Amino acid sequence: MMVTQAYRFALDPTPAQARALRSHAGAARFAWNWGLAACRDRYDAEGRWWSGAELHRLWNQVKKTDPTLGWWGENSKCVYQEAFRDLDRALREFVRSRKGTRKGRRPGFPRFKKRDRCRDSFRFCTGAMRCSGRTVTLPRLGTIATHDSTRKLARRIENGTARILSVTVSRTAHRWYVSFTVQVDRHVPERHARPGSAVGVDLGVTTLLTTVDNHGAVTEIAGPKALRAGLRKLQRLSKAHSRTQHGSANRAKAAGRLARHHARVTNMRTDTLHKATTHLAARYETVVVEDLNVTGMLANRRLARAVADQGFGAVRRMLSYKTGWRGGRLLVADRWFPSSKICSACGGRKPSLSLSERTFRCDACGLALDRDVNAATNLRDLAASGAERQNACGGDVRPGPAGQPPAKQEPGTTPRVDQTGTAAAQATAVWRTDTHIRSHPR
Ligand SMILES: [Zn+2]
Repeated sequence: MMVTQAYRFALDPTPAQARALRSHAGAARFAWNWGLAACRDRYDAEGRWWSGAELHRLWNQVKKTDPTLGWWGENSKCVYQEAFRDLDRALREFVRSRKGTRKGRRPGFPRFKKRDRCRDSFRFCTGAMRCSGRTVTLPRLGTIATHDSTRKLARRIENGTARILSVTVSRTAHRWYVSFTVQVDRHVPERHARPGSAVGVDLGVTTLLTTVDNHGAVTEIAGPKALRAGLRKLQRLSKAHSRTQHGSANRAKAAGRLARHHARVTNMRTDTLHKATTHLAARYETVVVEDLNVTGMLANRRLARAVADQGFGAVRRMLSYKTGWRGGRLLVADRWFPSSKICSACGGRKPSLSLSERTFRCDACGLALDRDVNAATNLRDLAASGAERQNACGGDVRPGPAGQPPAKQEPGTTPRVDQTGTAAAQATAVWRTDTHIRSHPR
């Protein structure tokens, strides 16, 4: 199976190389702004924009004649071209969302980029792009040391199971990263190594992940101590930052410290989540998670920080591709499936459950169970009830959990009925597989 995958490494540039990196990021920003201004001018005059390719041609003429653009040759020409492509895409996405053919949050009209207010980032898609051992080689920038070993990717490229599509260089806080977008030929097993195994995963606010598997084993992943301590330090640093004078040197220093620490906490969290999701995908054929409305939850300010910290969206994304690579699958319960309100023993349903109630107490059968464990158990049970039908029709099926009336279908969540859709059409409730897994032949 051909998979597009990213390999990301932290860089250790020399001071001269760091200057060149900043220069390239500045060039990408300049090209974006230059292109956006050109597009606006043309739109005012002719009612249309330039395409990415047109902008590139225009730029190639102008850069040679305009003496104020004499510096362009200091940076790789690829960087400008890629910035025009990005702008082209941003404009298209804007139009698509206006027409209502684009899913997700509506992007606004592209804006001008300002230094320090936007992400430093640029991309190459042609030229010398290599990695070996502890170095990467990029067009114009030459060979830069990496902080960690690139051996895994280098080996794949050597033996021909990976092909580099593009390379993006970006900065987070004080650190530069290089990310190789690679097409990888992955061996995906026909079946998972442990067929029939299933696990329900509850994404929590206090505990990172709570899982219950098909043998009833409960695992709680609280996140490393360092991460929790890191969060406390984050609080302290952001308080210190907000107490400094606007525009002062101390504020800049405090902002740098805060950004560095933010990056550190993010790295720790990502690392924990990667380890946890790799473990789950290796151990279980079917992984069931909730479809949390992350954007909606982020709008709730009390939950916002905690939710963002746990990286719910990231967990879902990681599980989605990692289960696919191992011949397993990820099931995403419907957004309205009340996993935390159903009793996992008798199927009785509570009308309401506040977030502060950490123990689930069933009024019908008297079950008292940790709230997260109860929710994870309900999710796991969905795997058993949904598995057969999922395979039978290959489409989206929403069976109700055992002992529950099938959930009512919400407007806008009509299951997508594939060619063999009769079974799917009858079924009513809770399933959605992530798309790229569905495309995987089973
Ligand atoms: Zn009960």
